[in-house]
Amino acid sequence: MAYTFRGGIHVEEYKLTAKSRTQIINDPPTVRISMNQSIGAPATPTVKVGDTVKIGQVIGEVPETALGCPVHASVSGKVTAINEMRVTDGSMNRTVVIENDGKNEVHESVVPFTKSITDVSPEEITDIIRRAGITGMGGAAFPTYAKIKSAVGKAELLIVNCAECEPFITADHRLLLEEAEKVVGGVKILMRAVGVPRAVIAVEDNKSNVKNKLHRQIGNANFISVKFLKTKYPQGDERQLIYALTGRELAPGKLPADAGCVIFNAATCAAVYTAFAEGMPLVRRIVTVTGNCVASPGNFSAPIGTPASYLVEMAGGLRKTPEKMIAGGPMMGQAQWDPDMPTKKNTSALLLLSKSFSKKQNSPAACIRCGRCVKNCPMRLIPAYIASSVMNDDMKSAEKFGAMSCVECGSCSYNCPGKVEIVQYIRVAKNNIRTENARMKAAREAAEKK
Ligand code: SF4
Ligand code: SF4
Repeated sequence: MAYTFRGGIHVEEYKLTAKSRTQIINDPPTVRISMNQSIGAPATPTVKVGDTVKIGQVIGEVPETALGCPVHASVSGKVTAINEMRVTDGSMNRTVVIENDGKNEVHESVVPFTKSITDVSPEEITDIIRRAGITGMGGAAFPTYAKIKSAVGKAELLIVNCAECEPFITADHRLLLEEAEKVVGGVKILMRAVGVPRAVIAVEDNKSNVKNKLHRQIGNANFISVKFLKTKYPQGDERQLIYALTGRELAPGKLPADAGCVIFNAATCAAVYTAFAEGMPLVRRIVTVTGNCVASPGNFSAPIGTPASYLVEMAGGLRKTPEKMIAGGPMMGQAQWDPDMPTKKNTSALLLLSKSFSKKQNSPAACIRCGRCVKNCPMRLIPAYIASSVMNDDMKSAEKFGAMSCVECGSCSYNCPGKVEIVQYIRVAKNNIRTENARMKAAREAAEKK
């Protein structure tokens, strides 16, 4: 039986690279490593221009008391600049630029963990994960150590999110096929860190060819199971995943731990395993480079900070001029304008799409009240009402209709016959509501001080 949730949409898959074996890339001439690799405080560079660095060396630190992770060099070479640049999410980040010397020298601090995982405390495991700079690699980039801490004593089920429900992306699919032992090994370590008795590896049923690979690695560890989910978007959203697997509904504002679950992405699990088995912090990831403008779409394991232009070159270059470059999937990814945009720990894909893939709007958008967006919304909202409230500049109504519960999956806009850019309106509402709430809070605090 394939598990599923209410609502959602069936999108064209375009998994062009599902059969493309991951190619290892070590030699981008330079990498630009952002100091904002996760939610929380940005790291402060611990190196200066002119320093020589090696792979795995700490180049940015976050105080232990703050939310955030250290950042490490992903290539060996010389630090040539430390400056600000705009990165994948559109924000300005401090970046450390390293000129690759091509020697692939590994830093002395990178040593495998030799003790048995059962001989160390969950706290020690969590600290190793923090020091390895591991963050959620599925998109949100929440520091993994903090997620572990928030779930201790609350979660009884660990879910490995292998839905990869966005069209085009196959990075996790290839990881499961090629390195299932790392994913399963990471699951066992994370289970001990959180203290949960059971884990489920949840995979969409368009990737059923991973079944034997996973079962071979799981062996007789019957506390880990594999469950297949119906291929439907946004199956990878945490709320939909929990509902599909447990039937538990997560109220807006609540965390998976409130429903007894903790969720890690497949690549995050593999990164945890690598941090223990090899002592190597999170310095590279698989990126799917694809789209109808790419000559030879493929999957590439590349150092963090590799420029997009270099990845495109590795994928055979462009076969036509792209209209759009997107970091991530077409539903929730972010459009990019800099061809040299460096990858981050949560960059799962790079899409280069021609005009034929962009929604061309020839007529003005108009809601025809078909109700399709309501049927598709996995959060059970009435997206058309929120959008029309925003059009009328009525943020109070937008809030009343649940704008803040929207997970921005885009299912509502995808099939809208009126071509209403619903999710864009909802983003505007969320921004305005947040700003207004912050303004009110500041005003209240100022009044209390008087
Ligand atoms: S899907 Fe589009 S046209 Fe239909 S109700 Fe929603 S906003 Fe209106
Ligand atoms: S309203 Fe939000 S959660 Fe609902 S379908 Fe649209 S984008 Fe997704």
